[in-house]
Amino acid sequence: MFRKKRGLSLDEVGLLIIGSGAAVFYYYFEKTMTAGQNLAVFITMGIILLISLCTQLLINSINRSKHALAEANENLEIKVKERTAELRESEIKYRTIFENTGTATVIIENDMTISLANSEFVSISGFKKTEVENKTSWLNFIDEKTHRKLLSESATSEYSNKNHAAARNFECEFFDKYNNKKDILCTLATIPGTDKSVASLADISELKKAERQIYHQAFHDTLTGFPNRALFIEILNMAIKRSKRRDDYHFAVLYLDIDRFKLVNDSLGHNVGDKLLIAFANRIKDALREIDTLARFGGDEFVILLEDIEGQEYASSIAERLQQALKKPFMVSGKEVFAPASFGVVANTKDYNHAENIIRDADAAMYHAKEKGKAQFKVFDKKLHEKAMHLLQRETDLRKAIHNNQFENHYQPIVDLKTASLVGFEALIRWNHPQLGLIYPGSFISIAEETGLIIPITRLVAGAACTDLKKWQEQLGDQINLTMNVNISSKHFLMPTLLDDIQEILKKTGLPPEQLKLEITETALMEDADETIRLVHRLKDYGLQLVIDDFGTGYSSLSYLQRLPIDTLKVDRSFVSRIQNEPDGNRNIVEAIISLAHRLNMIVVAEGVETHEQLAILLEMNCQLGQGHLFSKPINKTAVDELIEAILDFSRQNPDKYYPLSDMLSN
Ligand code: C2E
Ligand code: MG
Ligand code: MG
Repeated sequence: MFRKKRGLSLDEVGLLIIGSGAAVFYYYFEKTMTAGQNLAVFITMGIILLISLCTQLLINSINRSKHALAEANENLEIKVKERTAELRESEIKYRTIFENTGTATVIIENDMTISLANSEFVSISGFKKTEVENKTSWLNFIDEKTHRKLLSESATSEYSNKNHAAARNFECEFFDKYNNKKDILCTLATIPGTDKSVASLADISELKKAERQIYHQAFHDTLTGFPNRALFIEILNMAIKRSKRRDDYHFAVLYLDIDRFKLVNDSLGHNVGDKLLIAFANRIKDALREIDTLARFGGDEFVILLEDIEGQEYASSIAERLQQALKKPFMVSGKEVFAPASFGVVANTKDYNHAENIIRDADAAMYHAKEKGKAQFKVFDKKLHEKAMHLLQRETDLRKAIHNNQFENHYQPIVDLKTASLVGFEALIRWNHPQLGLIYPGSFISIAEETGLIIPITRLVAGAACTDLKKWQEQLGDQINLTMNVNISSKHFLMPTLLDDIQEILKKTGLPPEQLKLEITETALMEDADETIRLVHRLKDYGLQLVIDDFGTGYSSLSYLQRLPIDTLKVDRSFVSRIQNEPDGNRNIVEAIISLAHRLNMIVVAEGVETHEQLAILLEMNCQLGQGHLFSKPINKTAVDELIEAILDFSRQNPDKYYPLSDMLSN
């Protein structure tokens, strides 16, 4: 560390001169002095020498300290220079990062003043740097709620412990110089060892806008902009909770359905239909209070939540008032259109715990209102509730019944009226309910249709019917060719899967398509004319036969039927039953139907033939086929097995005769 000395220093030379002077002095005067003087001189010189030596040593030590100090100073200076350079470098580095983070960033002092703001912040805030730095509180930029939250957080110990406060992300609203609002994602972190924080703000306004749009779409009806089912259920659930908390809070739900809306759509077109729905929704909304909620559930169905009402009567009075409002026509695309609606009301809502149940009951009440006629309303009561519970139980039971195949086909023979010989069967479903016993289709087909369960049920019925007929046909051989009629519900008829299902069953059972007849009601054929014509042709092309069931009870236009390749027409039982009682009225109608069917090359089957008189009249009218208790009630599979055996026995003994069904059956 110490540097090497070069030559003698000044003080060392001084010491050398004093020493040499003393030696010369002693040499010249030594002989002239007494022994005492000699000793005194000698001592004096010794002292002088000693002092000189000590002085020299002191000087040396001071010099060394001076050196060390100078050296330390020098080192310190170097270090300070190095640290300053490092700090500058680091500051430049951090400032560059701060300036170029790509997000608006500010340094916030303990009192919330912004001490540093980057250019991104300047651009999103609209302020100049000089207007912000050390002048503005950062709380001025953010919304009230976040503002309060941050202040209360900063007071808690967690955030006052600056070294341990973790960075937090939160969304808030940001207001710029011109009070424009932006949605931002803020990341706030404490700078370790200081009481400053750094906040970086990402503008997520676009993201939030998209999020709000998605949310709006998920909870609102696109046509009318009113809440949809999902949102309505949320709001209704909140009303249920509120009514549980407060005894004096009552609410009611109204379910509306526009009467004969389909007619508007079909006759004036979907465009007019849509405009009518919008106008309808707005008129209803205008007649409600601000706190009530109107939602569209799809189609022409709307639901209203009446909040904070005085009592049940209020709901009914609102329903009446709304119906009054709907008496005036709507002007849609220059046309005057009326849109009366049926209302179902659930006013007694205290006992409910689930929104879905209230809606279900309001819907059920609306259905009953519709049954009463146009523009009616019905309040859901206990009786309706019991009925609804019954239906619900039926549905659950039906699902189980499909799973465990509790169904059984009964077969009603169809006969040639002239000979009373068997030509085929109609498969009629029966449900062997484990508790309730045998249930007839009239009690469950409509529920099966509503719930879509009719599809698996039809598969079961058709599958069993084809398997059974295939077996009986094999027993009978070529002499008698039987057919099997299977009922297809109107809801099922237009489903794209129908033909696939039938094809699969026929392939599996090996029954030729010509031996299967599908019974469809007139209403099913009238649903969607173009689609029906296409489908009927596809079924026909495949080789199936088509039958119109219950003819005379629907509204089919005869000219339309002409366009369909229908094989058979079944005259409804209601006509046949009155054929002899009122000879003038019904007889003429049945006669007209039969002659029309013949002109269209259709075979006619009379349903519900119960008496010989009816049979005689039908024969007079040239009706070819019949079905009814006169020949046979629907019978189970074992009874059909016996019937087939009897036919085979009879034809073995009477090869040229037909087996007359009426003889065999005693029922
Ligand atoms: P439908 O197709 O018109 O069947 C004839 C109904 O009339 C049967 O009632 C039958 O038992 C009854 N019937 C037959 N002859 C007479 C008679 O001489 N007098 C009286 N009073 N009634 C007679 P069922 O079996 O109760 O069936 C009722 C309806 O249920 C059927 O009417 C049909 O529309 C429907 N249905 C039956 N099975 C099925 C099925 O598998 N699928 C579908 N979708 N519907 C079915
Ligand atoms: Mg039928
Ligand atoms: Mg029928």
